Amino acid sequence: MFSNEKLFEIALNLQEPWYVKRIEFDTTAGELHMYIDFRKGSRFPCPVCGQGTKVHDTLEQTWRHLNFFQYKAFIHSRTPRADCPADGVRLVNVPWSRPGSEFTLLFEALALVAQMPVAAVARIVDEHDTRLWRVVHHYVDMARAAEDHSQVRNIAIDETACLRGQRYIALFHDTDAGRVLYAVPGREAFTVGCFVKDLEAHHGKPGRIENVVCDMSAAFLYGVEAQFTNATIVIDKFHLMKLMNEALDEMRRQEQQEVEDLKHSRYIWLKNQSNLTAAQRRLFEDLSQRNLKTARAYRMKLALQEGYQSPDRATAEEGLKRLYWWLVHSRLEPMKAMAVTIKGHWNAILNYFDHRRTTGALEAARNRARGYRNVNNLITMVYPIAGKLRLSPAEV
Ligand SMILES: [Zn+2]
Repeated sequence: MFSNEKLFEIALNLQEPWYVKRIEFDTTAGELHMYIDFRKGSRFPCPVCGQGTKVHDTLEQTWRHLNFFQYKAFIHSRTPRADCPADGVRLVNVPWSRPGSEFTLLFEALALVAQMPVAAVARIVDEHDTRLWRVVHHYVDMARAAEDHSQVRNIAIDETACLRGQRYIALFHDTDAGRVLYAVPGREAFTVGCFVKDLEAHHGKPGRIENVVCDMSAAFLYGVEAQFTNATIVIDKFHLMKLMNEALDEMRRQEQQEVEDLKHSRYIWLKNQSNLTAAQRRLFEDLSQRNLKTARAYRMKLALQEGYQSPDRATAEEGLKRLYWWLVHSRLEPMKAMAVTIKGHWNAILNYFDHRRTTGALEAARNRARGYRNVNNLITMVYPIAGKLRLSPAEV
């Protein structure tokens, strides 16, 4: 029979000169401690030049390892410091962990392949999540460094509020590949410049970008025009619809001062009819028969929605002209403001009908923007989740 120590050597795939010296089960703490040592007189490769060197001294180190059934497992080692004639005294690399990590490679692999929110993994393995975040950051940075963006031609830009709306991040999306290329805090013109730097660092060329879908934020538009001189700008359909919904809701809030019944009707004007409950539908039918300003604004919103179904740009432009005229002459302030917005972005709105691109695919990334400890963590998780970035935890 194998000894316990030998069994764990096999389980860890530990090679000479390393061996498991001692195993301790701490049943009260629920912990398993494995003590690893090396044979006397062993030589180790210098971590810088690889040359075999003799041991100068050792350093006591501990790593968290995969749980052993209900036991939290830890590996302790007397790690040698190599004495290299060229590079001086250096801590050697151990085969079960990457340099500088507090976890073994197997532990990191588990945490990464779990495909769960980091906070959930942290709970399961009873480990502080900031330590796990360091692991995730490392592998994401490594995988991103190898990315090639030279084929990127069509992009979409979107912003999302995170951390209770305190901060914004901008997401830059490859609409052909359906993936997030870059995420960065901020929503200024300068933010677009940050993306261009990242694009170039991954062999992309801003001059080759053909279409940019974005919202109507003046800062983004300014940045896009300055950076992507050959690109056609397309105003995002979802963004324009969102502004229209906001104008409609503003109309309702103004009107509810006089019309009490409008007070709890916000939802019924914003959602699709098919999503209303029977009671909401009755309220909607009642209100829409009462010649309200809100009901008129609602019909203008429907007109925009239908306009987006146009078969081609010419038809869409006819519809947009009619809608514009209607908004301008509506004598409803929020709707007149919408007319100004539409006029100011006329061609970019209609460019949608040449390209039919939206930022809709960014939804997945946006939905993940909740519950992260800080913006850096959020951005890091955008890449494997919405960026189709493949993480490869070291071979284990
Ligand atoms: Zn060396």
